[in-house]
Amino acid sequence: MAKLILQFMGTSSGTPSPDRSLPCIYINWKGFPFLFDMGEGCQRELMKHRLGFGSIRDIFISHMDMDHFVGLFGFIETFRMADFGVNEILNIYAPRGFESLLVRRRGFVKFHMISESFVLDKGDFSISAFKNLHKPESYGFVLQEKENIHFNEKKAHSLGIKGKLFSEIRDKGEITIKGKKIKLNEVTTRTKGMKIVYSGDTMPFEGLAKIVKDADILIHECTFDESLEQEAHKRRHSTVKDAAVLAKKAKAKKLILTHFSPRYSREDEPMLLQQARKHFKGEIILARDGTRIEA
Ligand SMILES: [Zn+2]
Repeated sequence: MAKLILQFMGTSSGTPSPDRSLPCIYINWKGFPFLFDMGEGCQRELMKHRLGFGSIRDIFISHMDMDHFVGLFGFIETFRMADFGVNEILNIYAPRGFESLLVRRRGFVKFHMISESFVLDKGDFSISAFKNLHKPESYGFVLQEKENIHFNEKKAHSLGIKGKLFSEIRDKGEITIKGKKIKLNEVTTRTKGMKIVYSGDTMPFEGLAKIVKDADILIHECTFDESLEQEAHKRRHSTVKDAAVLAKKAKAKKLILTHFSPRYSREDEPMLLQQARKHFKGEIILARDGTRIEA
């Protein structure tokens, strides 16, 4: 199985279109499945793509616009009827105030409030939230894999590092053997962990490039094309150009565009792609419902 499966269940914004359902992104990383936003119709999309619907226990809601969370309520009922809720907890991570919308709250639903200090540590990687610029309480998310440390065993052995001393130097950062101090860096190489960023709904803002910096995958909203920039920013959304300029500035490797206004049909995709291509030379994907990326 791929370490990362990223699949789009819904890629429209505001209202669905014949081609696109409302926002929902499935991310399975290292065997942990997550949903980011849960628009209307996402249950059927999840079933259609056979994504292990019943194994989802963690759902993130980026902000409190109905088109981003209405699908959650149907899912909670399915969870109850399938009896998953007998022994399992369904974790909902959402902004302040969302708890009050869970009117007929089930015992198995656990609400976790998102704030700028929110971090969910999953061992090999973490999920953190950042405040974006759309609603007073709206967020994007950074999924960051931890740095990998590999020992150069030949060098380590030559310096006398054997057996338990490997974990000792890893934990302490340095050890002393026969009076000689050996630093962890001398016997290891480090590889940066993978980084995935989901913008949520947002207009461009200062500081976003720093958050996105060096992302391997940037999933960014692009509600409008660049000719509607004024309207986009008035509604606190981004254009295709905004997303592409950000991807370039932040040196992202791959840009996945989603959250398209229903005014755009499949015939508009080449135009949208062209607008993005003008500003970003890396890989660009225009997500459709069902688009799947594995890494
Ligand atoms: Zn939206």
